[in-house]
Amino acid sequence: MASGSCACRYITYTTSNPPNYLVNCHCTTCRKQAGAPYQSWAVFPSDDIKWTTKPTEWRATETATRSFCPRCGSILTMKLDRDLTSIDVAAGTLDDGKTLIPLPGHHIFLQEKASWYKVPEDGAKRWDEWGDYHKW
Ligand SMILES: [Zn+2]
Ligand SMILES: [Zn+2]
Repeated sequence: MASGSCACRYITYTTSNPPNYLVNCHCTTCRKQAGAPYQSWAVFPSDDIKWTTKPTEWRATETATRSFCPRCGSILTMKLDRDLTSIDVAAGTLDDGKTLIPLPGHHIFLQEKASWYKVPEDGAKRWDEWGDYHKW
């Protein structure tokens, strides 16, 4: 199983399995929300995640609903309209050491990448846009 929380621990969650895979998204929305060069998402089946308290949802774009902790502002999830069977959980909120978490296998939205950030040669696949996100 995996578990996680926001920074202030007001919101916690558990899952029965580790994430299917991790993706680093370099899109402008992820970058601005994270305040970082990219956001790492851990992708789980939607029905595998149990919340103590539901995070606050908002929509930045026409393609996805995002969520965050209303107390501390931690990014928690993104749900794509085109695939509600999966949920992307901010990988940094996972409690480490409880389950084997896969290394990020994909960099997506590199066409919107921060000019000041150099993507490492880490063996992960690279995509200008979505690639086959949620089909891997
Ligand atoms: Zn919080
Ligand atoms: Zn993104």
